[in-house]
Amino acid sequence: MGSIFAPKLTAATRAKGGSVVSDDSTAPTSPSSSSSLTFTPGLAADYERTNPSRTITHRVRRICCVGAGYVGGPTAAVIAYHNPEIDVTVVDKDKQRIQRWNSKHLPIYEPGLVDIVRIARDGARGAVFLNKPTDTSVDSLDLSAAISSKQGFVFLRENMIVDGRAPNLFFSDRVAQCIGKADIVLIAVNTPTKSKGAGAGSATDMTAFEDVAVEVAKHAMPGTIIVEKSTVPCGTAELVRNTMAIHRPGVHFEILSNPEFLAAGTAMKDLMHPDRILIGSINTASGRKAAKTLASVYEAWVPPSRIIMTNVYSSELSKLVANSMLAQRISSINSISAICEKTGADVDEIAASIGSDPRIGDKFLKAGIGFGGSCFKKDILSLVYLAESLGLDEVGEYWRQVVKMNEYQRDRFSRRVIRCLNNTLLGKKITLLGYAFKANNSDTRESPALEIIKTLLEERPKEIAVFDPCCNPVVVKTEIKGLLSGQPALKEDGGPIEIHWSAYTACERSNAILITTECDEFRSSRTYAGGLGLPLTSPKAVDPRPLPNPPTESDLMSLQNYSLSIAPANTYPDNDPLKRYRPQPACESSCLDCRLIKASGYSTAGNSGENRPKERLDWSRISLGMNKPKWLFDGKGIIDAAELGELGFRVESIGRH
Ligand code: NAD
Repeated sequence: MGSIFAPKLTAATRAKGGSVVSDDSTAPTSPSSSSSLTFTPGLAADYERTNPSRTITHRVRRICCVGAGYVGGPTAAVIAYHNPEIDVTVVDKDKQRIQRWNSKHLPIYEPGLVDIVRIARDGARGAVFLNKPTDTSVDSLDLSAAISSKQGFVFLRENMIVDGRAPNLFFSDRVAQCIGKADIVLIAVNTPTKSKGAGAGSATDMTAFEDVAVEVAKHAMPGTIIVEKSTVPCGTAELVRNTMAIHRPGVHFEILSNPEFLAAGTAMKDLMHPDRILIGSINTASGRKAAKTLASVYEAWVPPSRIIMTNVYSSELSKLVANSMLAQRISSINSISAICEKTGADVDEIAASIGSDPRIGDKFLKAGIGFGGSCFKKDILSLVYLAESLGLDEVGEYWRQVVKMNEYQRDRFSRRVIRCLNNTLLGKKITLLGYAFKANNSDTRESPALEIIKTLLEERPKEIAVFDPCCNPVVVKTEIKGLLSGQPALKEDGGPIEIHWSAYTACERSNAILITTECDEFRSSRTYAGGLGLPLTSPKAVDPRPLPNPPTESDLMSLQNYSLSIAPANTYPDNDPLKRYRPQPACESSCLDCRLIKASGYSTAGNSGENRPKERLDWSRISLGMNKPKWLFDGKGIIDAAELGELGFRVESIGRH
């Protein structure tokens, strides 16, 4: 079965433009009577004819998402949020992760995630508000009093009453049981690069995905729609189809590709307002119908024009291509930054001038220490492996160069730091501001910071101090603990690395600061545009009232955002002007996360940093506490060198002489 994970486009399928030649025409088009799905073929045809842009579908009652990670958790939460009538259960074999999803300490940090989870997981109270534009905050009415007792409350005609909703987002470690009840199973497990065996270093490790495919094959109801949410090699749907055929011969399942395009740090925005939803299916009546059923779930909040239907190969490959092309732009501008440093050119000026050409565009042209994260590198390598397996070595080499350039850029930065510090770090303290691979995110996988730390450690500095406003220091410590094989890495074990809760202690008596994540908190005033990663609120939010009756969750969210944007800071510590939130689950006295919060000294710091106080750095205070000559290496291009130069820093920026 393993070979199926290698690219396997047969001559026959290629000749037909990649679409699958299937004998599904004989497969039942409606599920067996044991299934909970309902579908009337005659109505479907009628509906399709008269509503070509809308979908006619099975009725979806239960969705199971396997994998409670950075994709599965937020995606399932948004689906549940917008589809209160569908029960969405996220399952994972990692019991601790599930426990955190069921607590107030969510296992991952994404701005806005907690607001969505609180409505869908905990259910919402009813609300009442004046449904016409005002210049005051929305809760000028006493909403909770109005809901609990209508006595003494004057209901104006302009008031809108919104019903409460029951919880419909659940987290569980009972994988098989939840799969067995679902109309749709989303597979959102990890698909890293293989580290051993055939294809090691570039092929995708499909172990987790294959395990889940087998579980689904064993337990899913007949007719369940199986969806690849994970990023997988082109041809994986065939693997799943074969797995189903082996474990459930004679039972029909449809397999769809529905890759996720969210970006870490803006995941909730991306999920709430996606550019596109891509659904790949096989080109049969039942394949298309399954795709429409899935589309109907998204149509609760996504305009149908943004839902793209393709064949399953195109969908699988599109995800790899999207990430590879985004990464390619970063490597391209980084290669130019190296030329800038040797000439008199300024990479930001170049990016601005070329970015104004609409054929090029201005996105993803920021030079820096290169991309990180769990996706870009592995997806490019998966594309490389695909090309090489198809005998397209030159194509593979072309894309491999994107990864090489990324590593070159990161190493160039580390070497520059060491060179500026007279080629010795002995006895010196170096501070890294930023540990996650991206701002507003606690994801540290493939973080450039970690690689930089490894290089710096070889120079045996006295201390490497690390601070990140979104990462939990305890989680970072666990990752770093085993960094130096055989030797202690952390200060508490006698090693050189200290993880700090505060940027000021991290920078105290430091010889050099390296900015390794583009957090708004670290920007100098001239590069700061306002807002510290507040996600779903826009400073220029417009009063969306009057809302349609009944309002959708999107309508209520825009009213919530409007209210938050006009209210003075800290008016709503819970971000809940409509007073819809129910209390979060209480923790037991033994809760590890509660203990961590206590140890941090912050009264509200969550496990993931969700509620850590966000404040901009006072660079003059940092300058006062540093050792001369106060090096500052801006690896993310977020510092105004002249401004910080005036504060006594020696600033080195990427892409400038
Ligand atoms: P993750 O590692 O955060 O989460 C995966 C989860 O799957 C883990 O919690 C793991 O315990 C669980 N799991 C693994 N095997 C399991 C099994 N047999 N049964 C039950 N649970 C199992 O991964 P992620 O970042 O959420 O990525 C998931 C997929 O989505 C990957 O293919 C990735 O490439 C893709 N993707 C990720 C992002 C991103 O920003 N992280 C964006 C788009 C797509």
